[in-house]
Amino acid sequence: MKKQLFIFLFLSHLIVFSQDNNSLNSSYPTNYFKSPLNIPLILSGTFGELRTNHFHSGLDIKTNQREGLQVLASAEGYVSRISVSHWGFGKAIYITHPNGFTTVYGHLQKFSDRIETYIKNEQYKKESFEVQVFPLSTDLPVLQNEIIALSGSTGGFVGPHLHFEIRDTKSEKPINPLFFGIDISDSKNPRINTLIGYSLDEKSQINRLNIPTQLSFKKLENGDLLANKINAFGTIGFGINSFDQLDNAANLNGIFSLEMFVNGEKKHEFKATSFSFSESKLINLLLDYERLEILNQRIQKCYIEPLNDLSLYDHSLKNGYIFVQDGLTYNVEIIIKDFKGNNQKIIIPVIGKDDTILVSNTPKITPYEINYNQFHTFNKDGITVAFPKFTFYQNFYLDFDVKDSVVKVHSPILPLNNNYTLTFDVSNYSEGKKKQLYIASIDDKKRTSYETTVKKENSFYTSTKKLGNFTLLSDEKKPTITLLNFNDGQWLTNSTSLKVKISDTGSGIHSYRGEIDGAWILMEYNVKNSVLTYDLNDKIFTSAEHHFKIEVTDNVGNTNTMNATFFRKK
Ligand SMILES: [Zn+2]
Repeated sequence: MKKQLFIFLFLSHLIVFSQDNNSLNSSYPTNYFKSPLNIPLILSGTFGELRTNHFHSGLDIKTNQREGLQVLASAEGYVSRISVSHWGFGKAIYITHPNGFTTVYGHLQKFSDRIETYIKNEQYKKESFEVQVFPLSTDLPVLQNEIIALSGSTGGFVGPHLHFEIRDTKSEKPINPLFFGIDISDSKNPRINTLIGYSLDEKSQINRLNIPTQLSFKKLENGDLLANKINAFGTIGFGINSFDQLDNAANLNGIFSLEMFVNGEKKHEFKATSFSFSESKLINLLLDYERLEILNQRIQKCYIEPLNDLSLYDHSLKNGYIFVQDGLTYNVEIIIKDFKGNNQKIIIPVIGKDDTILVSNTPKITPYEINYNQFHTFNKDGITVAFPKFTFYQNFYLDFDVKDSVVKVHSPILPLNNNYTLTFDVSNYSEGKKKQLYIASIDDKKRTSYETTVKKENSFYTSTKKLGNFTLLSDEKKPTITLLNFNDGQWLTNSTSLKVKISDTGSGIHSYRGEIDGAWILMEYNVKNSVLTYDLNDKIFTSAEHHFKIEVTDNVGNTNTMNATFFRKK
């Protein structure tokens, strides 16, 4: 019994040790992974950077503003996953290494011949450009420094760069690649742009305000920042906007760590070490979500709200809430650092003063009260919203209304933990009309976008994480198809590709299918210019006359087909 207890203590100690941030440096191999590019490494994005709805999971390495640079395997191993997607990492390779880590290379333009052949085979088998495959360890082994791909800009609207990640193979958690000895030149201090003070309960105040307050500060001779003295009372917290610039690049990257001390005692710490993808959405609790949505200002809160168990925080320090008492003074210091230890400190002197509050944040009371841990459903004019338990992170009054067929489901100022459903009664529409209907969200500039619409007889619904305005729209128009680099009836002996532009106003493109002589062909879709490209070298043409057919369907099922004949023999 004693022995078991001893082993348990020993093991738990080991686990604690390996999770300690300061020991992370020494617990990862620093000489194993080589640079994935042959050029000096300059970053346009750092690990843990605060992005839209997620933390950045790797390094964004600059590729001299161009595509086609050789991408090298960072260490020996085998290709364990290849994914091709219109969005996300675009064309990406995952290499699993024998030391328990997996490296990821994203936004690639093209795979190496061996990998390209392998993936094209899968794409033809599945008749889909978008695929995700998991090769066996014996299928595609790679050596260190082997060219695995050319760099590109695939996956959504990104410019040319290489996204590089190192993950723990078993847990799939991405780890800050800089822990592995990848050296980035950085001699500049990170910077603090904005300081916000938060009153965190109804009775608390900062400078007699109970609403978030921007606070001024100045730079001292020693480089530290000093905020103007504030009077405060009750539970308060702070938030900052910050960035880090690396050498040789103008990009505003993320910081590595943020610490907050109150009267010399550490009360809060964030460190960009490692996280799990399931935690990504907690970025919306780390940030002042409302400020981000309304003012486009990215404020990292230096306090942790009750439902935020993000592992990038040191939770042993409590939550960073500061309890200010009348008549006492507090010295608050926030220190941010980059990976090299360059830092910036801001000092905030706080004087405890219980004064009358001048402005407070009174919530608008509506009949639609939400308790975040309960199920709620509300209905108005044939439109139903249903919020499962834990859709939200907080209790509040929902602003829910229907006017001129537009439903308002609050405003997009609250982060959502899970999807909710929005259902429209469509029993008043004819069967023909119903076919063309879809649910659209309307943004603050009145632009509409298709929301995945599930149709069930007299009710259409969507499952979404968006708040704001929605309506039913009708799409009667077929998608358009334009041949770009060839015409019907043309000889294409010297051409290398067929290019077709597709577009759809209204519900948007749902799917496309290209064929030559009745067989599916791989057409690569570029979301940046809506162009589909077929590589004519994918096929050996034995006869001269060929029939090209393309079919494009929008999200409500309107389909357009175009046929063209071309001649090619080789
Ligand atoms: Zn990236």
